[in-house]
Amino acid sequence: MAVLNQLTSQEAIDLENKYGAHNYHPLPVVLSKGEGVYVWDVEGKKYYDFLSAYSAVNQGHCHPRIVNAMVEQAKTLTLTSRAFYNDMLGNFEKFATETFNFDKLLPMNTGAEAVETALKLCRKWAYEVKGIKENDAQIIVCENNFHGRTTTIISFSNDPVARKNFGPYTDGFIKIEYDNLEALKTALESNKNIAGFLVEPIQGEAGVYVPTEGYLAKAKALCEAHNVLFIADEVQTGIARTGRLLATCGNCSCADKNCSGTPEVKADILILGKAISGGVYPVSAVLANNNIMDVIKPGNHGSTFGGNPVAAAVATAALEVVRDENLAQKAFDLGELFRAELNKYIATTDLVELVRGKGLLNAIVINDHEESETAWNICMALRDNGLLAKPTHGNIIRFAPPLVMTKEQLLDCVAIIVKTLKQFEN
Ligand SMILES: *Cc1c(COP(=O)(O)O)cnc(C)c1O
Repeated sequence: MAVLNQLTSQEAIDLENKYGAHNYHPLPVVLSKGEGVYVWDVEGKKYYDFLSAYSAVNQGHCHPRIVNAMVEQAKTLTLTSRAFYNDMLGNFEKFATETFNFDKLLPMNTGAEAVETALKLCRKWAYEVKGIKENDAQIIVCENNFHGRTTTIISFSNDPVARKNFGPYTDGFIKIEYDNLEALKTALESNKNIAGFLVEPIQGEAGVYVPTEGYLAKAKALCEAHNVLFIADEVQTGIARTGRLLATCGNCSCADKNCSGTPEVKADILILGKAISGGVYPVSAVLANNNIMDVIKPGNHGSTFGGNPVAAAVATAALEVVRDENLAQKAFDLGELFRAELNKYIATTDLVELVRGKGLLNAIVINDHEESETAWNICMALRDNGLLAKPTHGNIIRFAPPLVMTKEQLLDCVAIIVKTLKQFEN
């Protein structure tokens, strides 16, 4: 008998419950197929995917161009390790650095690894270029951040569920309020050992908090004035999700004419993950210019799988799709439409407090206390009505469909969402 049997949804859930660690609390739906903006469960029911694997699947499920790049490369050469060169990595590095306008790229696999890489890079730069005394470097982070799940990263999280009983924690981080320039200024002025400021351009996991207009640019200017590296974690906001190639969209090659909103911010260190592979394969990357990246020497950092030929082929195709299908522009236009349509409904009800977001990274806040089950129950009803979404925290539901959606599909989704929300009015 084959090891992988065709299961019913309940059988699949039971197996995971019994044999898998309980480190997630999934919505009870078991998916077995995806194409574009749709996924299907094992019983054949079709859904709109309104999470996109936390914005990894911006290019849509199983994008043929990306899958084809993976299959072709997988048949040719999958892994050499960086003990040897391979003929794919350099091409990818050239394309990606040109796309995002940085001198160099360091390839890793997951978002958390890329964040770790950025932190190490920032510290090494602080000691070797800025001249901070060894082991004294501090990195400023924001409250309610989400940067991944490693020991160092959870050390500066303030989510008790992510932290409790995982100590002792890594030192060297100062936490300030998000979207608070005064707090940043005070932190920078009160400590001469600051090496970097790590920030999400929009706090996704926290509940899609969009900072005040101009916050990022002013924060960057403050960092520059103090010779502190501005580190943008664009693992979730990057690669067209927020209506621009990057949410910090600075001096990049994004040809989006609507690239207004946040003023131009060019990060010193850019962290990418998730959609850099279109959700097809784990790929992440850290980008920086030579004056920073050149502090990394052989042996300082690495990964067996980082920069492997399959990853390079997949990520190249995934970025080509973003460019060739104008996904930043699509996300911008569809995002405007989505919020406008939802606001029409919100004007008629007390159930939903507001919709917020940029491009196709949005969230609604349910008018209920934070521990209420309403958001979860709405997501269950959305599932029954053919659309998959999940609460981020408490009463906040994130809406982040693949960017390859058509206008008709988006309006269809708005109808499903409004119909579902109406079931919860009282
Ligand atoms: C998802 C995410 C990460 C972590 O990425 P993993 O691939 O899950 O390790 C880091 N930062 C942000 C902003 C993210 O959304």
